Amino acid sequence: MPVKGSDADDEGSAKPVEAAAPRAKRRRSQPLKVANQIPQSRRKEIEKALEDTSPTPKKWSRKDGPKYHQFLRKRISPGTVRQIEFDLLDVDIGESWPIPITVVHGARPGPVVTVLGALHGNELVGPLALTYLCGPNFLGEGEAIDPAAMAGTLRIVPVVNLPGYRRQSRYMVDGRDLNRSFPGKPDSNTTSRVAHRLWNKVIKSSDHVIDLHTAAVGRTNMPQIRANLAHRASNRIARAFGIEAILDNEGPKGSLRRLANDSGIGAITYEGGGSNEADPESVQVAIYGVLNVLRSLKVLPGYPSRPRFRILASGSVWIRSDQGGLLDVLTPAGSFVEEGETVATVTDPERPGESYDVLTPTRGLLISTATHPFVNAGTPIGHLLPVTRGIKTLRKRLDPEGCLVTSGSDGDPPWREDEDVEDISVIGEWSGGSPDAEWGRNEESLTDDEAGEADPNWT
Ligand SMILES: [Zn+2]
Repeated sequence: MPVKGSDADDEGSAKPVEAAAPRAKRRRSQPLKVANQIPQSRRKEIEKALEDTSPTPKKWSRKDGPKYHQFLRKRISPGTVRQIEFDLLDVDIGESWPIPITVVHGARPGPVVTVLGALHGNELVGPLALTYLCGPNFLGEGEAIDPAAMAGTLRIVPVVNLPGYRRQSRYMVDGRDLNRSFPGKPDSNTTSRVAHRLWNKVIKSSDHVIDLHTAAVGRTNMPQIRANLAHRASNRIARAFGIEAILDNEGPKGSLRRLANDSGIGAITYEGGGSNEADPESVQVAIYGVLNVLRSLKVLPGYPSRPRFRILASGSVWIRSDQGGLLDVLTPAGSFVEEGETVATVTDPERPGESYDVLTPTRGLLISTATHPFVNAGTPIGHLLPVTRGIKTLRKRLDPEGCLVTSGSDGDPPWREDEDVEDISVIGEWSGGSPDAEWGRNEESLTDDEAGEADPNWT
Protein backbone atom coordinates (compact mmCIF):
# COMPACT_ATOMS: atom_id res chain seq x y z
CA MET A 1 0.00 0.00 0.00
CA PRO A 2 1.53 3.35 -0.95
CA VAL A 3 2.16 5.85 1.79
CA LYS A 4 -0.63 8.35 1.80
CA GLY A 5 0.98 11.73 2.10
CA SER A 6 -0.44 14.78 3.75
CA ASP A 7 -0.20 16.84 0.52
CA ALA A 8 -3.91 16.65 -0.02
CA ASP A 9 -4.69 17.58 3.54
CA ASP A 10 -6.83 20.66 3.25
CA GLU A 11 -7.21 20.88 6.99
CA GLY A 12 -3.64 21.62 7.96
CA SER A 13 -4.39 25.09 9.28
CA ALA A 14 -7.26 23.98 11.46
CA LYS A 15 -7.11 24.47 15.19
CA PRO A 16 -5.65 21.67 17.28
CA VAL A 17 -7.95 19.51 19.37
CA GLU A 18 -7.53 21.31 22.67
CA ALA A 19 -7.78 24.82 21.20
CA ALA A 20 -11.32 24.23 19.98
CA ALA A 21 -12.52 22.43 23.09
CA PRO A 22 -14.67 25.23 24.59
CA ARG A 23 -17.15 24.88 21.70
CA ALA A 24 -17.91 21.37 22.86
CA LYS A 25 -20.28 22.07 25.70
CA ARG A 26 -22.49 24.35 23.67
CA ARG A 27 -24.10 21.63 21.57
CA ARG A 28 -23.19 18.46 23.35
CA SER A 29 -26.77 17.30 23.87
CA GLN A 30 -27.60 17.19 20.15
CA PRO A 31 -29.19 13.88 19.10
CA LEU A 32 -27.29 11.57 16.79
CA LYS A 33 -28.02 11.98 13.10
CA VAL A 34 -29.17 9.28 10.74
CA ALA A 35 -28.20 9.79 7.10
CA ASN A 36 -31.40 10.31 5.17
CA GLN A 37 -30.52 8.18 2.16
CA ILE A 38 -30.05 4.92 4.03
CA PRO A 39 -32.81 2.51 2.88
CA GLN A 40 -36.01 3.49 4.63
CA SER A 41 -36.58 0.21 6.46
CA ARG A 42 -33.03 0.24 7.86
CA ARG A 43 -33.22 3.93 8.63
CA LYS A 44 -36.33 3.34 10.75
CA GLU A 45 -34.57 0.58 12.67
CA ILE A 46 -31.60 2.84 13.35
CA GLU A 47 -33.76 5.81 14.33
CA LYS A 48 -35.82 3.66 16.66
CA ALA A 49 -32.68 2.39 18.35
CA LEU A 50 -31.27 5.90 18.75
CA GLU A 51 -34.54 7.26 20.12
CA ASP A 52 -34.76 4.55 22.75
CA THR A 53 -34.55 6.43 26.00
CA SER A 54 -35.32 3.53 28.30
CA PRO A 55 -32.95 3.85 31.24
CA THR A 56 -30.02 1.47 31.23
CA PRO A 57 -29.09 0.12 34.64
CA LYS A 58 -26.21 2.22 35.93
CA LYS A 59 -23.33 0.27 37.36
CA TRP A 60 -21.51 3.44 38.34
CA SER A 61 -21.88 7.16 38.75
CA ARG A 62 -19.14 9.68 38.15
CA LYS A 63 -20.14 11.25 41.46
CA ASP A 64 -19.18 8.07 43.32
CA GLY A 65 -15.86 7.98 45.06
CA PRO A 66 -12.92 5.89 43.82
CA LYS A 67 -13.37 2.12 44.07
CA TYR A 68 -11.23 -0.94 43.52
CA HIS A 69 -11.68 -2.76 40.22
CA GLN A 70 -12.24 -6.47 40.66
CA PHE A 71 -10.99 -8.48 37.68
CA LEU A 72 -9.88 -12.11 37.44
CA ARG A 73 -9.69 -12.38 41.25
CA LYS A 74 -7.38 -9.35 41.41
CA ARG A 75 -8.12 -6.01 43.07
CA ILE A 76 -6.84 -3.04 41.12
CA SER A 77 -6.53 0.26 42.99
CA PRO A 78 -7.95 3.48 41.53
CA GLY A 79 -5.45 5.42 39.45
CA THR A 80 -3.14 2.43 38.83
CA VAL A 81 -2.06 0.08 36.03
CA ARG A 82 -1.73 -3.65 36.43
CA GLN A 83 -0.55 -6.46 34.15
CA ILE A 84 -2.61 -9.63 34.57
CA GLU A 85 -2.24 -13.01 32.93
CA PHE A 86 -5.36 -14.76 31.75
CA ASP A 87 -5.31 -18.48 30.89
CA LEU A 88 -7.22 -19.24 27.69
CA LEU A 89 -7.74 -22.79 28.96
CA ASP A 90 -8.49 -23.86 32.53
CA VAL A 91 -6.13 -26.84 33.03
CA ASP A 92 -3.87 -28.27 35.72
CA ILE A 93 -1.38 -29.79 33.30
CA GLY A 94 -0.53 -29.05 29.67
CA GLU A 95 -1.03 -25.86 27.66
CA SER A 96 -3.09 -23.13 29.34
CA TRP A 97 -1.93 -20.33 26.99
CA PRO A 98 -1.64 -17.40 29.41
CA ILE A 99 -2.19 -14.08 27.62
CA PRO A 100 -1.22 -10.68 29.06
CA ILE A 101 -3.95 -8.15 29.82
CA THR A 102 -3.07 -4.59 30.80
CA VAL A 103 -5.71 -3.12 33.10
CA VAL A 104 -5.72 0.64 33.55
CA HIS A 105 -8.08 1.59 36.35
CA GLY A 106 -8.98 5.27 36.46
CA ALA A 107 -9.06 7.42 39.56
CA ARG A 108 -12.78 8.10 39.00
CA PRO A 109 -15.72 5.77 38.26
CA GLY A 110 -16.69 5.18 34.62
CA PRO A 111 -17.36 2.51 32.00
CA VAL A 112 -15.26 -0.58 31.37
CA VAL A 113 -13.80 -0.60 27.85
CA THR A 114 -12.07 -3.70 26.49
CA VAL A 115 -9.84 -3.47 23.42
CA LEU A 116 -8.80 -6.68 21.67
CA GLY A 117 -6.16 -7.60 19.07
CA ALA A 118 -5.45 -10.82 17.15
CA LEU A 119 -8.65 -12.71 17.76
CA HIS A 120 -7.33 -13.96 14.42
CA GLY A 121 -3.73 -14.91 15.14
CA ASN A 122 -2.18 -13.60 11.90
CA GLU A 123 -3.84 -10.15 11.98
CA LEU A 124 -1.05 -8.03 13.41
CA VAL A 125 -2.35 -4.47 13.22
CA GLY A 126 -4.24 -4.91 16.52
CA PRO A 127 -1.28 -6.40 18.46
CA LEU A 128 1.00 -3.60 17.22
CA ALA A 129 -1.43 -0.77 17.96
CA LEU A 130 -2.24 -2.13 21.43
CA THR A 131 1.39 -2.82 22.32
CA TYR A 132 2.16 0.82 21.51
CA LEU A 133 -0.84 1.95 23.59
CA CYS A 134 0.54 -0.01 26.59
CA GLY A 135 3.99 1.51 26.06
CA PRO A 136 5.56 4.61 27.62
CA ASN A 137 4.57 6.92 24.74
CA PHE A 138 0.87 6.53 25.50
CA LEU A 139 0.47 5.10 29.00
CA GLY A 140 1.66 6.83 32.15
CA GLU A 141 1.68 10.08 34.05
CA GLY A 142 1.08 13.03 31.74
CA GLU A 143 0.55 10.77 28.70
CA ALA A 144 -2.66 10.24 26.67
CA ILE A 145 -3.70 7.38 28.97
CA ASP A 146 -2.97 8.69 32.45
CA PRO A 147 -4.67 6.54 35.12
CA ALA A 148 -4.79 9.49 37.52
CA ALA A 149 -6.78 11.55 34.97
CA MET A 150 -8.97 8.66 33.81
CA ALA A 151 -12.57 7.71 34.61
CA GLY A 152 -13.52 4.05 34.29
CA THR A 153 -11.41 1.08 33.33
CA LEU A 154 -9.49 0.15 30.22
CA ARG A 155 -8.53 -3.45 29.52
CA ILE A 156 -6.03 -3.90 26.73
CA VAL A 157 -5.54 -7.41 25.28
CA PRO A 158 -2.94 -7.14 22.48
CA VAL A 159 -3.01 -10.83 21.47
CA VAL A 160 -6.11 -12.90 22.18
CA ASN A 161 -5.45 -15.92 19.97
CA LEU A 162 -1.93 -16.58 21.24
CA PRO A 163 -1.64 -20.12 19.80
CA GLY A 164 -2.66 -18.82 16.35
CA TYR A 165 -0.32 -15.83 16.64
CA ARG A 166 2.63 -18.10 17.43
CA ARG A 167 1.86 -20.26 14.41
CA GLN A 168 1.15 -17.18 12.25
CA SER A 169 -2.30 -18.54 11.62
CA ARG A 170 -5.76 -17.10 11.73
CA TYR A 171 -7.08 -20.16 13.53
CA MET A 172 -6.84 -21.84 16.88
CA VAL A 173 -4.78 -25.05 17.00
CA ASP A 174 -7.80 -27.20 16.13
CA GLY A 175 -8.31 -25.26 12.89
CA ARG A 176 -11.39 -23.45 14.13
CA ASP A 177 -12.13 -19.76 13.89
CA LEU A 178 -12.34 -18.22 17.38
CA ASN A 179 -14.37 -15.29 16.06
CA ARG A 180 -17.08 -17.65 14.84
CA SER A 181 -17.20 -19.70 18.06
CA PHE A 182 -18.91 -17.38 20.56
CA PRO A 183 -20.46 -17.87 23.07
CA GLY A 184 -18.75 -21.28 23.19
CA LYS A 185 -19.16 -24.13 25.66
CA PRO A 186 -17.01 -25.22 28.62
CA ASP A 187 -17.05 -28.90 27.64
CA SER A 188 -16.86 -28.76 23.83
CA ASN A 189 -13.89 -28.47 21.41
CA THR A 190 -10.77 -26.43 22.26
CA THR A 191 -11.79 -23.24 20.42
CA SER A 192 -15.26 -23.39 21.92
CA ARG A 193 -13.79 -23.69 25.43
CA VAL A 194 -11.51 -20.69 24.84
CA ALA A 195 -14.44 -18.63 23.49
CA HIS A 196 -16.57 -19.56 26.50
CA ARG A 197 -13.86 -18.63 29.02
CA LEU A 198 -12.94 -15.42 27.25
CA TRP A 199 -16.55 -14.32 27.02
CA ASN A 200 -17.42 -15.07 30.63
CA LYS A 201 -14.21 -13.94 32.33
CA VAL A 202 -13.09 -10.97 30.22
CA ILE A 203 -15.75 -9.66 27.82
CA LYS A 204 -19.09 -10.00 29.58
CA SER A 205 -18.21 -7.48 32.29
CA SER A 206 -17.36 -4.79 29.70
CA ASP A 207 -19.58 -1.87 28.71
CA HIS A 208 -17.85 -1.40 25.35
CA VAL A 209 -15.62 -3.57 23.16
CA ILE A 210 -13.32 -2.52 20.33
CA ASP A 211 -12.10 -5.49 18.30
CA LEU A 212 -9.14 -4.82 15.98
CA HIS A 213 -8.77 -6.87 12.77
CA THR A 214 -7.27 -6.85 9.29
CA ALA A 215 -8.41 -8.44 6.05
CA ALA A 216 -7.87 -12.20 5.79
CA VAL A 217 -5.08 -13.74 3.68
CA GLY A 218 -5.20 -12.74 -0.01
CA ARG A 219 -6.67 -9.27 0.39
CA THR A 220 -6.23 -5.94 2.11
CA ASN A 221 -8.66 -3.41 3.62
CA MET A 222 -8.56 0.37 3.82
CA PRO A 223 -9.24 1.45 7.43
CA GLN A 224 -12.94 0.92 8.14
CA ILE A 225 -15.38 0.31 11.00
CA ARG A 226 -18.02 -2.39 11.03
CA ALA A 227 -20.94 -1.92 13.39
CA ASN A 228 -24.63 -2.56 13.79
CA LEU A 229 -25.84 1.04 13.57
CA ALA A 230 -29.23 0.02 14.96
CA HIS A 231 -27.49 -0.89 18.22
CA ARG A 232 -27.38 2.36 20.16
CA ALA A 233 -24.14 1.95 22.09
CA SER A 234 -22.36 0.52 19.04
CA ASN A 235 -23.61 3.35 16.81
CA ARG A 236 -22.14 5.82 19.27
CA ILE A 237 -18.66 4.31 19.41
CA ALA A 238 -18.63 3.56 15.65
CA ARG A 239 -18.99 7.30 15.01
CA ALA A 240 -16.68 8.19 17.88
CA PHE A 241 -13.83 6.18 16.33
CA GLY A 242 -13.53 9.16 14.01
CA ILE A 243 -12.83 7.63 10.59
CA GLU A 244 -14.66 7.94 7.28
CA ALA A 245 -15.90 4.46 6.33
CA ILE A 246 -18.55 2.71 8.45
CA LEU A 247 -20.12 -0.52 7.21
CA ASP A 248 -23.50 -1.13 8.83
CA ASN A 249 -24.08 -4.83 9.50
CA GLU A 250 -24.75 -7.22 12.34
CA GLY A 251 -21.55 -9.19 12.25
CA PRO A 252 -21.22 -12.87 11.36
CA LYS A 253 -22.88 -15.55 13.44
CA GLY A 254 -20.66 -16.64 16.31
CA SER A 255 -18.62 -13.43 16.18
CA LEU A 256 -17.72 -11.61 19.36
CA ARG A 257 -19.29 -8.40 18.07
CA ARG A 258 -22.65 -10.00 17.46
CA LEU A 259 -22.78 -11.73 20.83
CA ALA A 260 -21.70 -8.52 22.58
CA ASN A 261 -24.51 -6.59 20.87
CA ASP A 262 -27.05 -9.28 21.77
CA SER A 263 -25.88 -8.91 25.38
CA GLY A 264 -26.28 -5.12 25.41
CA ILE A 265 -22.57 -4.31 25.06
CA GLY A 266 -21.50 -1.64 22.57
CA ALA A 267 -19.10 -3.34 20.14
CA ILE A 268 -17.35 -2.37 16.92
CA THR A 269 -14.82 -4.07 14.67
CA TYR A 270 -11.99 -2.09 13.12
CA GLU A 271 -10.44 -3.45 9.93
CA GLY A 272 -7.23 -2.07 8.44
CA GLY A 273 -4.54 -3.56 6.18
CA GLY A 274 -3.95 -7.25 5.55
CA SER A 275 -2.95 -10.29 7.59
CA ASN A 276 0.73 -11.13 8.18
CA GLU A 277 1.74 -7.52 7.59
CA ALA A 278 2.17 -4.41 9.68
CA ASP A 279 0.66 -1.63 7.63
CA PRO A 280 1.86 1.44 9.58
CA GLU A 281 -1.02 3.62 8.47
CA SER A 282 -3.59 1.08 9.69
CA VAL A 283 -1.75 0.83 13.02
CA GLN A 284 -1.75 4.62 13.38
CA VAL A 285 -5.46 4.88 12.58
CA ALA A 286 -6.24 2.11 15.08
CA ILE A 287 -4.43 3.99 17.89
CA TYR A 288 -6.12 7.23 16.91
CA GLY A 289 -9.56 5.58 16.83
CA VAL A 290 -9.23 3.85 20.21
CA LEU A 291 -8.19 7.13 21.86
CA ASN A 292 -11.11 8.89 20.12
CA VAL A 293 -13.60 6.37 21.52
CA LEU A 294 -12.11 6.68 25.02
CA ARG A 295 -12.36 10.48 24.86
CA SER A 296 -15.88 10.32 23.53
CA LEU A 297 -16.92 8.06 26.43
CA LYS A 298 -15.23 10.50 28.86
CA VAL A 299 -12.88 7.74 29.99
CA LEU A 300 -10.01 10.00 28.91
CA PRO A 301 -10.06 13.78 29.21
CA GLY A 302 -10.11 15.89 26.05
CA TYR A 303 -12.34 15.87 23.02
CA PRO A 304 -12.45 13.33 20.21
CA SER A 305 -11.40 14.26 16.68
CA ARG A 306 -13.99 13.87 13.98
CA PRO A 307 -13.70 13.37 10.24
CA ARG A 308 -15.01 15.86 7.67
CA PHE A 309 -17.51 13.24 6.49
CA ARG A 310 -18.61 9.68 7.18
CA ILE A 311 -19.74 7.10 4.69
CA LEU A 312 -22.49 5.01 6.27
CA ALA A 313 -22.74 2.02 3.97
CA SER A 314 -25.56 -0.48 3.97
CA GLY A 315 -24.26 -2.32 0.91
CA SER A 316 -21.53 -2.67 -1.68
CA VAL A 317 -20.60 -3.70 -5.22
CA TRP A 318 -18.06 -6.39 -6.10
CA ILE A 319 -15.52 -6.10 -8.89
CA ARG A 320 -14.67 -9.45 -10.47
CA SER A 321 -12.27 -10.66 -13.07
CA ASP A 322 -13.92 -12.27 -16.11
CA GLN A 323 -10.64 -13.94 -17.11
CA GLY A 324 -8.12 -16.14 -15.32
CA GLY A 325 -4.39 -15.58 -14.88
CA LEU A 326 -2.15 -13.39 -12.80
CA LEU A 327 -3.54 -10.21 -11.31
CA ASP A 328 -1.86 -6.81 -11.10
CA VAL A 329 -3.94 -4.36 -9.04
CA LEU A 330 -3.44 -0.77 -10.22
CA THR A 331 -5.64 1.08 -7.72
CA PRO A 332 -4.87 0.33 -4.06
CA ALA A 333 -7.54 -0.10 -1.37
CA GLY A 334 -8.77 3.36 -0.43
CA SER A 335 -8.86 4.62 -4.03
CA PHE A 336 -11.85 6.55 -5.29
CA VAL A 337 -12.52 5.12 -8.75
CA GLU A 338 -14.71 6.21 -11.67
CA GLU A 339 -17.10 3.95 -13.55
CA GLY A 340 -15.18 2.08 -16.26
CA GLU A 341 -11.77 2.82 -14.73
CA THR A 342 -9.16 0.10 -15.06
CA VAL A 343 -8.47 -1.15 -11.54
CA ALA A 344 -6.35 -4.17 -12.47
CA THR A 345 -4.93 -6.14 -15.35
CA VAL A 346 -4.81 -9.90 -15.78
CA THR A 347 -2.13 -11.65 -17.83
CA ASP A 348 -1.57 -15.33 -18.53
CA PRO A 349 1.94 -16.80 -18.57
CA GLU A 350 0.72 -19.32 -21.14
CA ARG A 351 -0.48 -16.54 -23.47
CA PRO A 352 2.32 -13.94 -23.45
CA GLY A 353 1.40 -10.57 -24.88
CA GLU A 354 -2.29 -10.88 -24.11
CA SER A 355 -3.82 -9.01 -21.22
CA TYR A 356 -7.23 -8.21 -19.87
CA ASP A 357 -8.33 -5.04 -18.08
CA VAL A 358 -10.63 -5.27 -15.05
CA LEU A 359 -12.97 -2.26 -15.04
CA THR A 360 -15.09 -0.86 -12.22
CA PRO A 361 -18.82 -1.31 -12.83
CA THR A 362 -19.60 1.91 -11.01
CA ARG A 363 -18.04 4.94 -9.35
CA GLY A 364 -17.12 4.50 -5.72
CA LEU A 365 -14.65 3.98 -2.93
CA LEU A 366 -12.55 0.84 -3.15
CA ILE A 367 -12.53 -0.41 0.44
CA SER A 368 -10.75 -3.68 -0.19
CA THR A 369 -8.63 -5.29 -2.91
CA ALA A 370 -7.21 -8.72 -3.64
CA THR A 371 -3.50 -9.16 -2.97
CA HIS A 372 -3.21 -12.75 -4.14
CA PRO A 373 -2.19 -12.64 -7.83
CA PHE A 374 -3.81 -15.90 -8.91
CA VAL A 375 -7.33 -15.36 -10.27
CA ASN A 376 -9.97 -17.34 -12.10
CA ALA A 377 -12.95 -15.96 -13.99
CA GLY A 378 -15.30 -14.79 -11.26
CA THR A 379 -12.69 -14.21 -8.57
CA PRO A 380 -13.49 -11.01 -6.65
CA ILE A 381 -10.63 -8.57 -6.99
CA GLY A 382 -12.16 -5.49 -5.38
CA HIS A 383 -14.93 -4.40 -3.04
CA LEU A 384 -16.52 -1.05 -3.75
CA LEU A 385 -18.83 1.30 -1.86
CA PRO A 386 -20.91 2.89 -4.65
CA VAL A 387 -20.85 6.47 -3.37
CA THR A 388 -23.27 8.72 -5.26
CA ARG A 389 -23.55 11.71 -2.90
CA GLY A 390 -21.04 13.92 -1.16
CA ILE A 391 -18.48 13.36 -3.95
CA LYS A 392 -17.18 16.93 -3.69
CA THR A 393 -16.52 16.54 0.03
CA LEU A 394 -14.90 13.17 -0.49
CA ARG A 395 -12.60 14.45 -3.23
CA LYS A 396 -11.15 17.03 -0.83
CA ARG A 397 -9.72 14.16 1.21
CA LEU A 398 -8.04 12.32 -1.69
CA ASP A 399 -4.27 12.32 -2.04
CA PRO A 400 -2.62 13.02 -5.44
CA GLU A 401 -2.98 9.32 -6.36
CA GLY A 402 -6.73 9.41 -5.69
CA CYS A 403 -6.60 7.55 -2.37
CA LEU A 404 -8.70 8.60 0.60
CA VAL A 405 -6.53 10.00 3.40
CA THR A 406 -8.23 8.39 6.39
CA SER A 407 -8.52 10.62 9.44
CA GLY A 408 -5.79 9.79 11.91
CA SER A 409 -3.31 8.76 9.22
CA ASP A 410 -2.09 12.30 8.54
CA GLY A 411 -1.46 13.80 11.93
CA ASP A 412 -4.00 15.53 14.11
CA PRO A 413 -7.17 16.32 12.20
CA PRO A 414 -9.30 19.20 13.45
CA TRP A 415 -11.82 18.84 16.17
CA ARG A 416 -15.39 19.45 15.02
CA GLU A 417 -18.95 19.07 16.23
CA ASP A 418 -20.67 15.81 15.40
CA GLU A 419 -23.42 17.69 13.58
CA ASP A 420 -20.79 19.31 11.36
CA VAL A 421 -19.75 15.92 10.03
CA GLU A 422 -21.37 15.27 6.66
CA ASP A 423 -23.04 11.85 6.56
CA ILE A 424 -22.85 10.21 3.14
CA SER A 425 -24.98 7.10 2.90
CA VAL A 426 -24.43 4.23 0.49
CA ILE A 427 -27.58 2.29 -0.25
CA GLY A 428 -27.58 -1.38 -1.12
CA GLU A 429 -27.18 -4.76 0.39
CA TRP A 430 -24.31 -7.06 1.27
CA SER A 431 -24.08 -9.77 -1.33
CA GLY A 432 -24.10 -13.11 0.47
CA GLY A 433 -25.35 -11.42 3.65
CA SER A 434 -22.13 -9.94 5.04
CA PRO A 435 -19.45 -7.53 3.82
CA ASP A 436 -16.90 -10.29 3.19
CA ALA A 437 -19.10 -13.17 2.02
CA GLU A 438 -18.06 -12.87 -1.64
CA TRP A 439 -14.37 -13.31 -0.95
CA GLY A 440 -15.13 -17.01 -0.59
CA ARG A 441 -12.86 -19.43 1.17
CA ASN A 442 -9.62 -18.18 2.54
CA GLU A 443 -6.45 -18.88 0.57
CA GLU A 444 -4.79 -19.96 3.79
CA SER A 445 -4.88 -23.69 3.31
CA LEU A 446 -6.20 -25.86 6.07
CA THR A 447 -4.49 -29.17 6.53
CA ASP A 448 -6.71 -32.24 6.81
CA ASP A 449 -6.49 -32.33 10.58
CA GLU A 450 -7.24 -28.60 10.72
CA ALA A 451 -10.38 -28.80 8.63
CA GLY A 452 -12.55 -27.74 11.57
CA GLU A 453 -15.78 -25.90 11.09
CA ALA A 454 -14.51 -22.75 9.43
CA ASP A 455 -17.08 -20.36 8.04
CA PRO A 456 -16.67 -18.89 4.55
CA ASN A 457 -17.47 -15.35 5.68
CA TRP A 458 -14.04 -14.58 7.00
CA THR A 459 -13.23 -11.11 8.24
ZN1 LIG B 1 -10.07 -10.90 11.63
